[in-house]
Amino acid sequence: MSYQALYRTFRSQRFDEIVGQRAVSVTLKQAILQEKVSHAYLFTGPRGTGKTSTARIFAKALNCHHLQNGEPCNQCEMCTAITEGRIEDVLEIDAASNNGVDEIRNLRDTVRYPPVLADYKVYIIDEVHMLSTSAFNALLKTLEEPPAKVIFILATTQVHKVLPTIVSRTQRFDFKRIGIEDIVQHLEDILAKLNIKFEKEALFIIARVAEGSMRDALSILDQAVSFIEDTLTSEAAMMITGSLTKDMMDKYMLAVYEKNVEVALKILSKIFSQGKEARRFLEDMILYNRDLLMHKHAAQFVLEARGVLTDTFKKLATELSSKDIYAYIKLLNEAQQEIRLSNLTSTYLEIVTVKLATFSQDSSSVQLEKDNKDFDSLREELSQLRSIVENLQKGQTDFSKERLTTSSSTDKADYKNPTEQIHQVLLSATKAHLTALKEVWPDFLASLDARCKAMMKASKPVAASDTQMVVAYDYDILAMTANQDEALKQIVGESLDKMIGFAPNLIIVTSSEWPKLRRTFIEKNREKLQLDKTDVTQKTASEDHKNADIVEKAIDLFGKDMVKVIRTC
Ligand SMILES: [Zn+2]
Repeated sequence: MSYQALYRTFRSQRFDEIVGQRAVSVTLKQAILQEKVSHAYLFTGPRGTGKTSTARIFAKALNCHHLQNGEPCNQCEMCTAITEGRIEDVLEIDAASNNGVDEIRNLRDTVRYPPVLADYKVYIIDEVHMLSTSAFNALLKTLEEPPAKVIFILATTQVHKVLPTIVSRTQRFDFKRIGIEDIVQHLEDILAKLNIKFEKEALFIIARVAEGSMRDALSILDQAVSFIEDTLTSEAAMMITGSLTKDMMDKYMLAVYEKNVEVALKILSKIFSQGKEARRFLEDMILYNRDLLMHKHAAQFVLEARGVLTDTFKKLATELSSKDIYAYIKLLNEAQQEIRLSNLTSTYLEIVTVKLATFSQDSSSVQLEKDNKDFDSLREELSQLRSIVENLQKGQTDFSKERLTTSSSTDKADYKNPTEQIHQVLLSATKAHLTALKEVWPDFLASLDARCKAMMKASKPVAASDTQMVVAYDYDILAMTANQDEALKQIVGESLDKMIGFAPNLIIVTSSEWPKLRRTFIEKNREKLQLDKTDVTQKTASEDHKNADIVEKAIDLFGKDMVKVIRTC
C-alpha cells in the first residue's frame, strides 16, 4: 500500500467533521435541507482551513440521494465517485496550476451541457484569484447567466484579488483560522485512530506552529510520526517545529528572573547556535510567560495545556509578580515589532535579553493598589496583552518568513555619525589619552551595571582627549540606542572619572564609518598645517618633510599600529 499523507487520509467527509468552521457547515447543511441552493459560492480564508474539503462535501450533499440530516451518506455510488474524483460532473480546477487556463477554456465550452450522471454539475475553482483576466471575464459571463443545474464554488486565500463583480455574484463564506484547542482535539482523534501514544503538550506545540491551518498541523504531525519510536513526545514536537525545548525556556527565564545577564545571553547564543528562528524564540517566550501568568491565576488550565510542569516553571510562577510577567510580555512583544524591520535580529534579541534581565519594578507597585488611575492603565494594558496573546494563539501575528527575509535590506537603524564633532575631538586628541582609556577599559566595563555593560560591551575607544572620547560600535542599532541614552552617557563619564581622573564626553561612531572619518580628518588637518595644496601632487623633498609632520601627528593621535602611510601621486 502506498503511503498517503495524513491530511488526505483523514480528510473530512461530512460537514460535522469539518473542524472549526461550524457557522459555515451549519449554513450549508441548512441550504441543502431547505433546497435553497445558490448557483455560486465564494469560500474565502487562510490556507488549510477546510475550504476545498467543504466544497467536496457540499458537492456530494447536492448529488447524494441518501442524505442523512443534510449530510452525504458517503456510501452510495455517487458519493464514492465524487470522493475518488472519478465523476466528470464534479470538476476541480486549480487556477494556480499550469493547466488552469486550459481548464477554464474547456469549462467555457462545456458549461452549457447538462450534467451527465449527477443532479448538479459542480465546478470547484481553487485559488480563483489566480485566474487570468480573460478567464475571469469568461467566468463572469457564465455567472451573469448561470446555466441550470450548474453550481460554482470558488475558493481563495486572497479575496481582495477577486474582482468585485465576481464577489457580488456569489454567496460568500469566510473560513476562520482554526483555534488551537480544535486542532489539538483533531490531532488527538487521529493519533488515537493510528494507535500512537502521545504527550498532550506535543499536540499543543504542533497546533501553535500550524497557525490556524489544519493542513499544516497534519503535515507537521506526519513528519513527527515518521521519526518517533512509539510515543510522540513534546521534545520530538519541539525538534520538528523548531520550537524551544522546555529546558531551554526554563533556563532562559530563570536567568532573567535572577537578573543574570551573562547567563541569559549565553543561553540565547546557544539557542541560536542550534538554528532557532528569532521569530519563533519570541513567540515561545511570550507563550511561556502567558503560561506563567495563567498558572498564577488558573493553575489547572496550564496543567492541561503544558502537561507536566517543571520545578523551575513552578518556582517562577510562584515568585514572579503578575506585574513583572506583564512587563516581560510587553518587552518581548515590542521586540517582535522591532525584528520585523531589521535583519539584525540577534542584536535585537540580545538587547531584549538585557532589558528583561535588568528590568526592575520601582516601588510604584505598592502605590498602585491605592492609585485608581494607575490601576486603570494596568487594566488597559492587561486587555492589550490579552489580545496579543489571543492573536498569537490564533497565529495571527503580523510576521511571515517571507517578510523577515525580504526585509533584510531594510535595516531601519541608520546611525548618523556626528562628523564635525568627531573632527573636533581629533584636533585635541592624543595617543596618551587613548592609551589611558584603553588600559582601564576592561575594569571600566566590569564596574558598570548589567544594563550599561550590555550597551558598552560591543564598543571600543578609538580616540580621546582630556574632555572627550570617540567610541566605535560594530552595530548601527547599538550606536543609535547608546547615543540616545543620556543616563548611560552620564554613568560612563562618572565611572571613567574615578579611574582616569577626568570624565570624557561620550561621542559615538560606527566601526564601519570610523576609518573614513579618520581619513577625512587627516586630509583636513593637512590643510591646517598650511601645506600648499599644489605641492601635494608634486613630490618634492620638502613636501616629504612636511608630510612627515602629518604622519607624526597621526601617529601621536592614533598610535603606530593604526597609521599606514600611503603615498599618492
Ligand atoms: Zn450518498
